[in-house]
Amino acid sequence: MRRRLSTLLGLAQLILLLSCATPVGQQVPSGVDIPAETKVDLAEAIAPELTAAPLSSVASTVPHSGTSSSNNEKSDQVNNLSSDAETPAARVHLVATVWEEEPRLPILNYHQFSPESAKFSTAVKTRLPDLQAHLQSLYDSGYSLISLEGWLKGDLHVPEGRRPLIITMDDLFYNNQLTLTEGGDPDPSSGIGVMWEFSEAHPDFGFQLALFATLGDKLYANPSFPTWEDKLGEAIAWGFDHGAITYNHFYTHPHLDQIEPRHIVWNARKNDEYLRSLLEQVGRDDIIPSLSNIFALPYSVWPTKPISIQLLLAYENPEGLPLQAVMESDFISRAKFLPPPYAPDFDPWHILRIIADHNAIDHLVENSGQFPTAVHCEFEDLDQTRIEDRAFLAGEIRQALKQGRCPEGVYSLGGKVFTASSSGVHLIFPEDGGG
Ligand SMILES: [Zn+2]
Repeated sequence: MRRRLSTLLGLAQLILLLSCATPVGQQVPSGVDIPAETKVDLAEAIAPELTAAPLSSVASTVPHSGTSSSNNEKSDQVNNLSSDAETPAARVHLVATVWEEEPRLPILNYHQFSPESAKFSTAVKTRLPDLQAHLQSLYDSGYSLISLEGWLKGDLHVPEGRRPLIITMDDLFYNNQLTLTEGGDPDPSSGIGVMWEFSEAHPDFGFQLALFATLGDKLYANPSFPTWEDKLGEAIAWGFDHGAITYNHFYTHPHLDQIEPRHIVWNARKNDEYLRSLLEQVGRDDIIPSLSNIFALPYSVWPTKPISIQLLLAYENPEGLPLQAVMESDFISRAKFLPPPYAPDFDPWHILRIIADHNAIDHLVENSGQFPTAVHCEFEDLDQTRIEDRAFLAGEIRQALKQGRCPEGVYSLGGKVFTASSSGVHLIFPEDGGG
């Protein structure tokens, strides 16, 4: 089942890369270029399954596609491509997520995991049975996982009727966080293994994780075991293939207020370089061009010297990508929730995560009504050559409103965000229109 699902999703991902807008930031890598005949075969192969699957589950489980802008493309499901190679303009089917209330969401932050034999969970070590209980009560309260990076880029998709939730994890890679079995699946005795099994059993919960790795002193396995680095590289690559994306938590987990400015840059760079060398070591260089540039601050502590802060914010990853966001963390008692990226209070340099202890989970369950759900609105038979055109999309939304097919609200469609009401349809993100 897992293999079939991932093959299906891999094909879906190719279709989406071929068929949807590439509106924000970086473009799809030029290497993803499929001959026309292959497009037809893929479309025919995938269309029945995609059509048969619940749209929401497809939306929530498509893995990271290997481009940092791909979250925008992958969430607009396309389940109808013309298979007639002589027809120049393929027809596509997009699904908008419509927010009738202002969206916002919690971001949970886990660390390590301990077995059932541990007496209790702590703020940085969650017993696996407690994790299982967290996931069940979050799911029962209507939450589904979405991609951190997708949200930051204006992809506000969530399965219909579900509340968005982001789960992050810090201080990887310990093997209690992710170990692969001989068969290549995540071991259920690791935290990510528990999350993976839960998402397999509850597809509308989805599987998206943001992993903040400290690769220099958080040892994955006993370094005297000769192939431990291969195992680590394979575990990281598995994550990229399935939606558990590795970001930067500095190489030695330093107190950034206690080290020299140049050491801050070294620490970030070294972590980035080691990540790339691990991927190369296991033959997964293909992932490298898609790597992102998001930090989680160790101990949630900022540097104090202005020059250090400047250097941190000016940090470019080895591929030259500027810093995208900085993650902090705190207890639920001081919680702030993530607004959409067009909101006046959205601040990418201070994205606050909530430490995933019992109090936090109880709060999110008891107050789930404070986190809105969304509905879907379908746009069928669109001209593929026009779906990057914001005026075209706005016109389609206007028509759907006029026909009473879809409600007023905030529309996430084609990698863009619109407000739609009787007074008009307006693009609100990205500000430059994205094409
Ligand atoms: Zn940490």
